Amino acid sequence: MTTPTQPPDGRRSVAVLGATGAVGQAFVRLLANHPWFELAEVAASERSAGRRYAEAARWLGSEPMPARVAAMTVLPCDPAVVQSELVFSALDSSVAGEAEAAFAKAGRFVLSNAKNYRMEPDVPLVIAEVNPDHLALLDAQRECRGWSGGIVTNGNCSAIVTVSALAPLHARFGIRQLFVATMQAVSGAGYPGVPSLDILGNVIPYIKDEEDKLETEARKMLGAIENGAVQDAPINVSAHTNRVPVEHGHTVCLSIGFEDRVRPADALQTLREWRGAEIARGLPTSPERPLLVSEEPDRPQPRRDVSAGRGMSVTVGRVRGDSLFDVKLVAMGDNIVRGAAGASVLNAELLVRAGRLAAR
Ligand code: NAP
Repeated sequence: MTTPTQPPDGRRSVAVLGATGAVGQAFVRLLANHPWFELAEVAASERSAGRRYAEAARWLGSEPMPARVAAMTVLPCDPAVVQSELVFSALDSSVAGEAEAAFAKAGRFVLSNAKNYRMEPDVPLVIAEVNPDHLALLDAQRECRGWSGGIVTNGNCSAIVTVSALAPLHARFGIRQLFVATMQAVSGAGYPGVPSLDILGNVIPYIKDEEDKLETEARKMLGAIENGAVQDAPINVSAHTNRVPVEHGHTVCLSIGFEDRVRPADALQTLREWRGAEIARGLPTSPERPLLVSEEPDRPQPRRDVSAGRGMSVTVGRVRGDSLFDVKLVAMGDNIVRGAAGASVLNAELLVRAGRLAAR
């Protein structure tokens, strides 16, 4: 593999596929001044390829578009053209399946936000602080598929928020029942997303495939690696998913039943103490605290808490007893950062720390 764009300062060249979309732009923002990675290439559909990034992307950020990226020419999503060793994918799922496999086959590591490979048994579905050990699936992936590269996925945006709040509780008490109802921001539907006349002053109680994703992905991410495969966590999950007129930040209301009875005070203490897996601490994109516990009776709120930990912390609040199960609580996190681009960048940093990439 040639890497003509390899930066001279020891950082790794990275590319973003789907760089013009809502998640792609978040990658551009997060990678603009990254200490380990240099954003060397941006790619998108044939509609955008050949144009300057500044012309192809309708910039959604409140900060100006990074000047260096604005001047880049958008490339097609073809591994013969895009040369970087690490590839972040913010592709629409209609094209992610084929494109991501082509990059992995060509020896690249793909960090994907799309749904296509998340539930494949040989593909890690990882939250860096929760299940970094699932990267072990990469060995089976290489063997089964004959790829010299690989695909690591991060979860659906509401699944990431949900699992971040559940992980410490599951590790300590063993969750068996979960009722979850989401209130998901419009930015979760990409750009331009949900028409304003459908969502303003309204709630839409349906997001295609979302309930199934939340139920299955939560079980996989909370599952344990046994004999080189993930055994899903034995949790009976019922999910309701709703789109609400919020710009950024998915809120989830959770009612949780445990193996044995758990007091809300013990659940609260467990959430407060949690710092996430040791290997994921102190990485460039790690928040100081992956989980923040709010004491206010009316928090978390997307407007007030979405930027906590630069968008990488999930805020939990309202931890209390539940008359159906044991404990109920509310969690909220940034769907674009923690729930998508930031999670992928953190997973890439994890790959580096775990020694899964070629030495530099
Ligand atoms: P989006 O705003 O609609 O962006 C889609 C991107 O895919 C654009 O860059 C688009 O390029 C590109 N694309 C579309 N068709 C293509 C093709 N035929 N060939 C190559 N590129 C193509 O969507 P998004 O919200 O950023 O979501 C991106 C992915 O992340 C999706 O798989 C989504 O499910 C997932 N995700 C989103 C969120 C969220 O909160 N938004 C959270 C987690 C995961 P053009 O501009 O050239 O059309």
